[in-house]
Amino acid sequence: MRVLIAGGGLVGLTLARLLGRRGMAPVVLERMSAGGYVKRGFMLGHHGYGALEDLGLLEEILRRGRPFGDLPGGGSAAVAVEVGLLLQRLADGVEVRHEHTVADLLRDPSGRVTGVTAHGPAGASEIPADLVVACDGVRSRVREMAGLEAEFAPMEEGKIEWMSPVPVAEPFAMAYLADGSHIGMLSWPEGSFGWRTMDRSGREAAVAPGIEAFAEQWSRLLPAAADGVRALTSTDQLFYSEPELLSCPRWWRPGAVLIGDSAHFFGPETGVSAGIGLGDALALAQAIAANPDDPDAACAAYVTWREPAVRPLEAADPSRQRLRGTPLPPPHPEERWPPAPA
Ligand SMILES: Cc1cc2nc3c(=O)[nH]c(=O)nc-3n(C[C@H](O)[C@H](O)[C@H](O)COP(=O)(O)OP(=O)(O)OC[C@H]3O[C@@H](n4cnc5c(N)ncnc54)[C@H](O)[C@@H]3O)c2cc1C
Repeated sequence: MRVLIAGGGLVGLTLARLLGRRGMAPVVLERMSAGGYVKRGFMLGHHGYGALEDLGLLEEILRRGRPFGDLPGGGSAAVAVEVGLLLQRLADGVEVRHEHTVADLLRDPSGRVTGVTAHGPAGASEIPADLVVACDGVRSRVREMAGLEAEFAPMEEGKIEWMSPVPVAEPFAMAYLADGSHIGMLSWPEGSFGWRTMDRSGREAAVAPGIEAFAEQWSRLLPAAADGVRALTSTDQLFYSEPELLSCPRWWRPGAVLIGDSAHFFGPETGVSAGIGLGDALALAQAIAANPDDPDAACAAYVTWREPAVRPLEAADPSRQRLRGTPLPPPHPEERWPPAPA
């Protein structure tokens, strides 16, 4: 089976490595240049451990990151790790065509997806494939071009994040606030990261009180994060966003399948999106290996295997309690961000 992977992020690289171990040589197209990635605070949930174990990388990632939380059956619930390290280890030995953007899908007269048109440094080219795997993230163009429906569910609240070069003692801490929203932090050996829910105020209002007021309130609400947040020097290190959850009723159509963030995106306090995506990659690699001459059978097997793992997590996502339009209780005045004007 000729497999084309659209997107060389965490999930696309994982799938490419897993297929490589099963004797296949997928084509990976990535629009960014080699070594490029979005820096972020990152924890990998245990849902992704199986894929790393299959690749022989789990022990190293646990050793070079900071595992935390105990699972009832043993092992850690997650590992906080520098995301660039994980991407670099996943990319080892994978041939990626960088600076290649999937711009269109090829189809046969029945509508079946039969490959892609890619734009690269040498211009446009058509690449035939028996299965195009969308690993191109939440705003997946492949999903859109394949006509697979995406249900975006915006949240009622905003989110603010920071990233600091200073690690703190604890790898993870999270607390719920009086109105049911939350504040959390992660720390890996090279730095720390925090996020919290806040008023949907827009970026300008979110950073207006200044970095000192921000660090002071954060340290009070989540003391474990104090060393990291107090090392911030500018509001340029604060990132405001308005989170949306994503769920897709169907994950495949003949010739194309969605995995990772192109298929689902979970709320901020779950920390599971990447782990679930790596789990998807392992399930799809197994399904392809079991059906090497039949992409439709591989996709059907993938969905049969994966729906019972992913759909309950989508349904139980605590962020679904706080979707746009849900009346939320007023925040406690001392927890509110940005603080109410005096
Ligand atoms: C600030 C932040 C913090 C996060 N923290 C966590 C966390 O702690 N734990 C967690 O589990 N998850 C976290 N996530 C989410 C996590 O990063 C994703 O779940 C994970 O990266 C999913 O990987 P993916 O490969 O499916 O998608 P992505 O990482 O989005 O990768 C998609 C890739 O496709 C490429 N691409 C896009 N369009 C095209 C195209 N048309 N042609 C070619 N290439 C294309 C992109 O350049 C990109 O490299 C966080 C995300 C952000 C933004």
